[in-house]
Amino acid sequence: MSNLTIRASAFGGLFDCGYKFEGEHILGMRRPAGVRTLLGTATHSGTAAFDSARLRGESISPDDAAGVFVDALRNPEYEVKVFDDDLSLKEAERIGLTLTTKYCTEIAPQFHYTAVEMTLKPLEIDCGGGVTITLTGTMDRARAAETDAGTIIPDVKTGSKVVSNGVANIKARSAQTGTYQLMYEHTMREPTAGAQVIALGTSSKTPVAVSPVFDARRILIGTDEAPGLIQLAADMFRAGLFPPNPASYLCSKRYCARWERCIYRED
Ligand code: SF4
Repeated sequence: MSNLTIRASAFGGLFDCGYKFEGEHILGMRRPAGVRTLLGTATHSGTAAFDSARLRGESISPDDAAGVFVDALRNPEYEVKVFDDDLSLKEAERIGLTLTTKYCTEIAPQFHYTAVEMTLKPLEIDCGGGVTITLTGTMDRARAAETDAGTIIPDVKTGSKVVSNGVANIKARSAQTGTYQLMYEHTMREPTAGAQVIALGTSSKTPVAVSPVFDARRILIGTDEAPGLIQLAADMFRAGLFPPNPASYLCSKRYCARWERCIYRED
């Protein structure tokens, strides 16, 4: 391990389960996606098409965005497996159509976006000991938005637990949104005012919510008292040690490519 290139959109996963991250992003392990993952990808395609068109000044309706969603759901670009306890494609389509429409009519109008799926300038991290990692790629599901306080990074999240009691869940979101904050600043050479989670709940009631703005960047760079996640990541890469986390909510055969061969999982 000497010089690794990691997608910015994957970096947050290092702090969820390092062992899973190593398996998928360093050792190249793959798994077929379930219908819930496909639902998230397709919903993102619909919402991103809506925001991108509006950013270009082009006319687009929620129905048009719904069409992009359906097309992405029915024509996945990767292998999809229906797990035993998965959604049916019919139910996924119903949920995704509702979420796409809610996003276009209730959420997008609240924001003044300045970038969607922005390409980021590569950010090199010197881990010491001759090891460097380079973060690269796009902001994936995140946008940049202008507010009175400055630029913020809203990140669109889908999942059955992203909304709890009507509130967007930001627990364990700072590593990824903080990465986007840092890389936006590196790319644009201007500060950000925080991050935000736009939560699209894929449970049957399709709840949606937007979190308050929070400072995710701070946990990446650390404080005088505690090292930031960038420093901790550098230590992990230099040592080549990636700790497992069987308590992760992604610790299942549905989401983890290392699951079959992992001795640390607890089920
Ligand atoms: S099975 Fe669980 S503990 Fe093992 S690598 Fe996957 S997420 Fe981590």
